[in-house]
Amino acid sequence: MHRVLIAGGGVGGLTAAHKLRQLLPPEDEIIVFDQSAVHTFWPSLLWVMSGTRRADQVVRPFRALREHGITVRQGQVTAINPRAPSVTVEDREQRGDAVIVALGATLAPERVPGLAEGGLNLYTLAGAEEIWRRLQALEAGQVAVLISSSPFKCPAAPYEAAMLIDGYLRKRRRRDRVEVALYAAEPAPMGVAGPAVSAGVVTALTERDIAYYPNAAIEKVDAAAQRLFFRGGREGRYDLLVYVPPHRAPDVVASAGLAAADSWVTIDRERLETPFPNVFAIGDIVGIPLAQGKLLPKAGVFAEGEGEVVAQVLAQRWLGREGARFTGQGACFIEMGRGVAGFARGNFYAEPVPAVKVYSSGRHWHLAKIAFERQWWSRWW
Ligand SMILES: Cc1cc2nc3c(=O)[nH]c(=O)nc-3n(C[C@H](O)[C@H](O)[C@H](O)COP(=O)(O)OP(=O)(O)OC[C@H]3O[C@@H](n4cnc5c(N)ncnc54)[C@H](O)[C@@H]3O)c2cc1C
Repeated sequence: MHRVLIAGGGVGGLTAAHKLRQLLPPEDEIIVFDQSAVHTFWPSLLWVMSGTRRADQVVRPFRALREHGITVRQGQVTAINPRAPSVTVEDREQRGDAVIVALGATLAPERVPGLAEGGLNLYTLAGAEEIWRRLQALEAGQVAVLISSSPFKCPAAPYEAAMLIDGYLRKRRRRDRVEVALYAAEPAPMGVAGPAVSAGVVTALTERDIAYYPNAAIEKVDAAAQRLFFRGGREGRYDLLVYVPPHRAPDVVASAGLAAADSWVTIDRERLETPFPNVFAIGDIVGIPLAQGKLLPKAGVFAEGEGEVVAQVLAQRWLGREGARFTGQGACFIEMGRGVAGFARGNFYAEPVPAVKVYSSGRHWHLAKIAFERQWWSRWW
């Protein structure tokens, strides 16, 4: 009998849990630890922010997973011992035969003075709800969408947010009274996917009259004066500030010896194993360098693919089943507002640069993203 401990019940952790349940015999135990009582489907936050989803539509209780033969324990993972291997949740150490670390990225708005006081966090459910409330009340003024540092999860999300805000304001006939600007701490949108994707996003912003400021490194926000201050002297004004906070690796991985302080976990990029046998890390918590020098983007599509592969690697090791390798395949919908979306798909492990194909935008990609959300819930719940 084997016991697999999964730290984190997000996209990667849940996918691994379900795939393991399919592959391992029923007597093997799969235990997921999460600090939250509910699983949140993060991509839907863009629809919460723009009023097409309510908060209760984008979360589901973890307890429902019991029916699928998966044990979920709620609590904060405070330590991981990769040598045992074990996971400690609120002072109780649990030993297992394998550990999958899938704790995601920690959001760190406190790294920019004034940011949390002056703006709304697009990457939390409460932030997305508040953005929607404030957007409805905004009759005139300036919306600033701010990417405060890189890397951040879902490289498309803030660009999508700006276009969804634009679409809403146009529908309400307020766009001539509300300016929309996007300040980004990166040289180009979705740069890892290549120049064609970046150029497509810049064109989409320009067509919508969204002012775009790349290489804008935020230094501080003056919440009282509603002003943004960037390195090099640039300044910006806002009435509504929608921000992507700085991201960092959770402290627990550095104290476990799985990463240097303030660094992402390094793994074998095909088997997703850390240097410790039977200890794996997947999803946003890992830093996978690509040939062109950038990191594999932090995105649910990769967390999901990695979760499937880890389960297959363990099933091969313990049951002699067919193995699998993570090959860097990924895809991304790009919401552009008013019921239209774009789509890109490719191999991010291709060398010397990722091989990504961009498809022309249309209503069908928006509908495909809705179908993807529906499929996510029907698969697990
Ligand atoms: C607004 C937005 C839109 C997005 N859109 C897309 C998209 O369209 N396509 C796409 O591919 N990706 C998208 N993403 C990114 C995607 O959601 C993430 O890349 C993905 O969720 C990463 O999966 P993960 O399992 O690594 O981490 P997560 O899904 O973040 O899960 C981590 C889990 O660990 C738990 N946890 C963290 N620390 C602890 C602890 N110490 N103890 C216990 N539990 C803990 C958390 O509660 C969480 O449940 C989007 C993200 C956002 C915010």
